[in-house]
Amino acid sequence: MKPLGPIPAGYTALDGELAIGGRKVSDLVTEAGGTPLFVYSREHLDRRVAELRAAMPERLAIHYAVKANSWRPVLEHMAGLVDGFDIASGGELAMVIAAGIDPALVSFAGPGKRDSEIEGAIDAGATLNCESENEVRRALAIADRLGKTPRLAVRVNPYFELRGSGMKMGGGAKPFGLDAERVPALAREIIAAGADWQGLHIFTGSQALDAEAIAETQGNVLALADRLAREIGNGPLPKLNMGGGLGIPYFAGDTPVDLTRVGEQLAKHLETLPETLVDTELCIELGRYLVGEAGVYLCSVVDRKESHGEIYVITDGGLHHQLAASGNFGTVVRRNYPVAIASRFDAAPEEEANVVGCLCTPLDRLADKAHLPRAEVGDLVAVFCAGAYGASASPAMFLGQGPARELLV
Ligand SMILES: *Cc1c(COP(=O)(O)O)cnc(C)c1O
Repeated sequence: MKPLGPIPAGYTALDGELAIGGRKVSDLVTEAGGTPLFVYSREHLDRRVAELRAAMPERLAIHYAVKANSWRPVLEHMAGLVDGFDIASGGELAMVIAAGIDPALVSFAGPGKRDSEIEGAIDAGATLNCESENEVRRALAIADRLGKTPRLAVRVNPYFELRGSGMKMGGGAKPFGLDAERVPALAREIIAAGADWQGLHIFTGSQALDAEAIAETQGNVLALADRLAREIGNGPLPKLNMGGGLGIPYFAGDTPVDLTRVGEQLAKHLETLPETLVDTELCIELGRYLVGEAGVYLCSVVDRKESHGEIYVITDGGLHHQLAASGNFGTVVRRNYPVAIASRFDAAPEEEANVVGCLCTPLDRLADKAHLPRAEVGDLVAVFCAGAYGASASPAMFLGQGPARELLV
């Protein structure tokens, strides 16, 4: 037996089935026209942002990192909830514009921006979080050609990282951002060129659950921003994107971030801000924390069989929509996500089963040796924590499968 991850709060049974947004999964599947299906809950999205705002100091703006989930109805819904959007490609710029989001609220990070992407961002009025000297010079030349004033920030490669973070994106040699000691000279170059100076972006990591580690890193980010602002010597810093890093519990034993603790610690830091930062616009950027738990992936059981004494529940879904849940997206040891038999959500577990996808590869596993109610052909399986890096980060075209259906309820 291997444990399943914890089912996020707010999912209950209705007539024996899992309910999302107050509706039974069988009804949602009928409405969508079948499985595999991602269902995203407005109620969860709303509640998550409200909790975050309640816990964090009021002046902290909340940005959504679009790469976690870029489906248009989700972007449109998030537009009513957050203060800004962080994108990482020209494709995502097109998506936020199509969703009616004001490009002035958008910042664009990413280590390999093409000239055409830089041009698109400058033309739309989005901020470029520049990741190298070369990028700044290309942006200035492109802006000159367009006759526009570019909005430029510098992404810093800090000398520290977020402890316990799932993906390390700062500290030591990195393709991301500019090493901290080279930032002041580049910032001065941007200001001297007459660009619209947007300040600094310091991203230190992702998927951290330890409030103390997050708070400590936020303190380090503020201290580094102060030091760099003083070295730049242009007075107070206009903006500081402090990064994100708040994670969600995916696996057995994971516990949610103590948001109150993070908020209290940050409030303390903000009470004693140095002169360079007292009037700075501060934001954090979050992807999975905002949308991850709001999404559920539903697939149907198409077969059930036994091999060498083990039970296999075979579904019409799989890693082509759930690369992370299958254990193939940045994990070393595969562990089970929260998974349930959605059509028997209030039934007691009665067997040990392996839940797999329909792909012809041994990598396509949704739950190993899980204690679950007996699932028959036609039952629905739910994979939770599917709102982030599911549809947007899985190889949907693998084996000619194609994308899953999506529904916002
Ligand atoms: C991926 C990424 C994020 C979002 O990470 P989450 O873990 O989804 O919150 C935020 N900022 C940057 C720069 C990123 O690359």
